[in-house]
Amino acid sequence: MGLADDDGRSDIDILCLNMTYPLVPDEIVEFARDKDRVLILEEGNPAYMEQQALCFIVDAGLSTRIDGKNYLPEVSEYTGEVLASGLGRYFTENGGNILDLETVRERMERMERVRAAAGALMEAPLPPRQPIFCTGCPERPVFGAIKLAEREVGKVHVSADIGCHAFATFAPFNQGNSILGYGLSLASMAAVTPMQERRSLAIMGDGSFWHNGLQTGVASNLYNKGDGVLIIMNNGYTSTTGQQVIPSSKHSEIFGTGAKIATKLEALGVKRLKTVRTYSVEMMVKTLKEAFTTTQKGLKVIIADGEFMLARQRREWSEKAKVLKEGRRVEQAKFGVDAEVCTGDHSCIRLSGCPSLGVRANPDPLRKDPIAEVKQDCMACGLCGEMAHAAVLYPSFYRAARIHNAGWFERRLHGLRSRVIAAMAGV
Ligand code: SF4
Repeated sequence: MGLADDDGRSDIDILCLNMTYPLVPDEIVEFARDKDRVLILEEGNPAYMEQQALCFIVDAGLSTRIDGKNYLPEVSEYTGEVLASGLGRYFTENGGNILDLETVRERMERMERVRAAAGALMEAPLPPRQPIFCTGCPERPVFGAIKLAEREVGKVHVSADIGCHAFATFAPFNQGNSILGYGLSLASMAAVTPMQERRSLAIMGDGSFWHNGLQTGVASNLYNKGDGVLIIMNNGYTSTTGQQVIPSSKHSEIFGTGAKIATKLEALGVKRLKTVRTYSVEMMVKTLKEAFTTTQKGLKVIIADGEFMLARQRREWSEKAKVLKEGRRVEQAKFGVDAEVCTGDHSCIRLSGCPSLGVRANPDPLRKDPIAEVKQDCMACGLCGEMAHAAVLYPSFYRAARIHNAGWFERRLHGLRSRVIAAMAGV
């Protein structure tokens, strides 16, 4: 609207509340003291802040007028357009000539034109999609493993936590029966465990472990002689909010070389503790089955260890780009589906839900079912192959290597192989 610069310096006084509960009466009153009107932008319903602010203003004997939901929607998200239209009406009615409404209208129309142009480029409307893990996410294999383990031990109560792993509550995993707060999965699991036929499972991220889970979850479980299985997703940073450093990050400035989750758990007295690489689906299934069925009482912790493929590839590719520039050899993994082996039952997609797995028409004219395919945005995490192996599916996935700047031996070998294959194929 042209009322603020790129750094947020605004022509209009703004009180931005990072903590909204409890509200600080003096803070609100001081902000409102020299103003005729204050507009409260409060996403959500009911309008708690608006009502409370009104009470503070009246108690302080001020005559400042408070507006909010009378200009902005009661429910739903405050997107740019929603705010622009609400603020536009507010300033027109109350702000005199503070705003050049013609410019605002032009900008909104331009936004609409860009959106319409982008829509016209699509061949068909985008299908609705639910939130899901990123391609190459190290948490996807763990939920695939839980699914496979449940085939043998039966359905277990999954106490979920705040973080990316909450996406597992959606299809194709459907795992997350309760969710309470950041780092509270194990603590909240204590409430349902006594009612469960089987041992329950709590999921926690490494960020939530340090934030809260170590104390309210692990220490409390041990103190109360609890039982159950806890999976800690250890990828080295807080993922949901953008890879912030946590105490166990390798480059953590707070703890030097990085505090170890396993060391803390052992020091607290966790007896059964195992670290498993997240992408080793078979090992994860085995560990889970043991944890669910052992007669040994007490907390069983599995640290699911795995760096996010996207972060790893970003790091490795900047190194590889340098090597490539120098004309040296670089190997790049590529995954694919063998069209002749794929049966077209799509179990791999249902088990992993990887967004890089799609379907395409079957090249065999005698078979109608579309076959699975690995798309170009694949992160080469290898999960689809691991999953197919652990779930005893048809071995249709292959791993190939694209070699840049191959040496003379590799070129000759490639030539020889190509000739042998061509001869065998009769071409
Ligand atoms: S290797 Fe398979 S599971 Fe991993 S990103 Fe590629 S398609 Fe997805």
